[in-house]
Formats: sequence, structure tokens, C-alpha cells
Amino acid sequence: MKKNMGWKELWHGDSVPAGTAKEFQTGDWRSERPVFCAENCIHCYFCWIYCPDSAITLDENKKVSGIDYRYCKGCGICDVECPTKKDKRAITMEAERK
Ligand code: SF4
Ligand code: SF4
Repeated sequence: MKKNMGWKELWHGDSVPAGTAKEFQTGDWRSERPVFCAENCIHCYFCWIYCPDSAITLDENKKVSGIDYRYCKGCGICDVECPTKKDKRAITMEAERK
């Protein structure tokens, strides 16, 4: 298996060895992308806990710093779980620009 191969290079119905999810960059699945606004973030870590792709990034102080779009597949769970209020959202989903 090549390093950082795309998921489209897998055979239909193929399986991959356990512990290799990091090798498959699923960012091109997205039709929408989460956009992070640091000034509205209250550092609750809900997005980091719930993201199924570990695509929420932390900075050197262990605070949420953004999204790793190589792996974010745009599921929107981080947006749903983020507790910030409507007019001060820390994460909002936007249409993906291809
Ligand atoms: S949209 Fe989904 S995959 Fe992307 S950062 Fe949010 S929870 Fe993770
Ligand atoms: S869920 Fe929202 S408020 Fe909480 S750390 Fe993530 S972006 Fe910040």
C-alpha cells in the first residue's frame, strides 16, 4: 500500500490493514466544509472529541486551531456539536469550493 494514496485508488469492496486510516486522505469527499472562527471558540473540545476523522487541529497550547482539510470529509458533526450561539458561531458549514 502506497503512503497517502487516495481512497479512490482502492479496489471496490477492498479492505485495508487495521491502523492505516491516516494513509487515506478523505478530504475530497466534501460537498461542504466547516470554517473555524477562533474568536468565537470557547475551547470546550466537543468538535475535537466528536470528529470521526480526527481532523480538528490543536495548537502548541492544546487549543483548537482549525481543521485539517486533508482528512475532513465534511460530515458536519463538529458544527452540530459546537455549543456556540447562532450569531457567534465558532464553526459554520459552507459550500465547498472546488
Ligand atoms: S466536518 Fe466532520 S470530518 Fe470535518 S472536521 Fe467536522 S466533524 Fe470532522
Ligand atoms: S466545539 Fe466549538 S467552541 Fe468547542 S472547541 Fe470546537 S469550535 Fe471551539
